[in-house]
Amino acid sequence: MDFPNVIRINHPVVQTKLTELRDVLTEHRRFRELLNEIAGLMIYEVTRDCPTRPQSVRTPLEVMTGTTLARPITLVPILRAGLGMSDGVLKLLPDARLGHLGVYRDEKTLEPVSYYQKLPPDIASTEVLLIDPMLATGGSGSAAITLLKRAGVTSMRFVCLVASPEGIRALHELHPEIPIYCAAIDRQLNEKGYILPGLGDAGDRIFGT
Ligand code: URA
Repeated sequence: MDFPNVIRINHPVVQTKLTELRDVLTEHRRFRELLNEIAGLMIYEVTRDCPTRPQSVRTPLEVMTGTTLARPITLVPILRAGLGMSDGVLKLLPDARLGHLGVYRDEKTLEPVSYYQKLPPDIASTEVLLIDPMLATGGSGSAAITLLKRAGVTSMRFVCLVASPEGIRALHELHPEIPIYCAAIDRQLNEKGYILPGLGDAGDRIFGT
């Protein structure tokens, strides 16, 4: 399955951890650990083409010109499951700021409802990584992207673990310019909006609820 603007991270270490994560027998402590590990590994690829600028640095021997990220990075987990990936990303990007977006999916209509938004005031001048482990219907992801665009964000990447074809199409329809990074594109959604084969309810598995 080829989708424009979707980057699937097929690294064997990521795929091995994802398989363990999917396992129904993986309990919440290990689930959390794996999710953060995968998020950290993925972020290495996600940030590959982030703009850089020259940076002078004094080594113990002399001064040289090194490289640093040109713009600060803001991490925006979509509550609540996105929180399960934050620590793993922050391990690699400890200077990143953290914004929060609360968008949930109405169980009956499957429509996104926004209930919480706290973003850094200068988010517009940063590179934004929007994170949510599951891109299912695409409803909350699309709503979150719309909110971030309204906040002035011009450069943003959507990072998820498992995407459905339906979710990718929905997100592309509204936001074709936003790249989607994932570790897997699964078969389909079921009638309740869960991804098949998927990994179940990511929030419940992270938080043990
Ligand atoms: N959210 C989840 O946590 N899992 C799914 O399969 C779909 C949406």
